[in-house]
Amino acid sequence: MVWTRNDTLAREEEKSFFKEGLHGEEKSPMWIACLDLEGVLIPEIWVSLAARTGIVALARTTRDNPDFGDLMGQRMALLDTHGLKLADIQAVVAEMAPLDGAPAFLDWLRARAQVVLLSDIFYELTAPLMRQLGYPTLLCHHLECDEQGRVSAYRLRQPHAKRQAVRAFQGLNFRVVAVGDSYNDAEMLAQADAGIMFRPPDRMVREFPNFPVARDYDELRRRIDGSCE
Ligand SMILES: [Mg+2]
Repeated sequence: MVWTRNDTLAREEEKSFFKEGLHGEEKSPMWIACLDLEGVLIPEIWVSLAARTGIVALARTTRDNPDFGDLMGQRMALLDTHGLKLADIQAVVAEMAPLDGAPAFLDWLRARAQVVLLSDIFYELTAPLMRQLGYPTLLCHHLECDEQGRVSAYRLRQPHAKRQAVRAFQGLNFRVVAVGDSYNDAEMLAQADAGIMFRPPDRMVREFPNFPVARDYDELRRRIDGSCE
């Protein structure tokens, strides 16, 4: 595999990423990595909000409910019922940190490949966490608020946004390795040239037996290395 790499990589380390047999193949050997965000690099924001507010139902995520529209409808109704505004969610996010080991993993990956985060989170919620991750490229969605700061709507960048992004990169002659943990990642993992599940729920492991599973960042590094040959 040929990564777009950082020239400071040690020669021995570099060797494992370059496979001689790829030269002359018709398909591009250049890989790009697409990562889900919540559950892969940061905790679930809505779960943190549920813990902070005591509103248990807010802890439901795409790991529990594959229907994102249904899930967002429930979330917005709960926010309204309990009088929570965008600023309240932002205050929770401001106190969050990436998952243990996530910044080091991301640094490892970015030294070897272009990395794009594909998430169903909203730009209005991510700033404190993106700062802690060194502002990686993030493609996600927008929240809309009314004049009182109440979340009034959400605006998807496009339907099937994760899968469409992977398709677009493939159209640019990249091969894509994708990593996700939830049902909203399934399309992205299936579209990618290599799809890896990171700490998925058991139910998903049973439903998608073809995707390899990584339970920690060391295993994920090995899976990525092994998948991108
Ligand atoms: Mg996730």
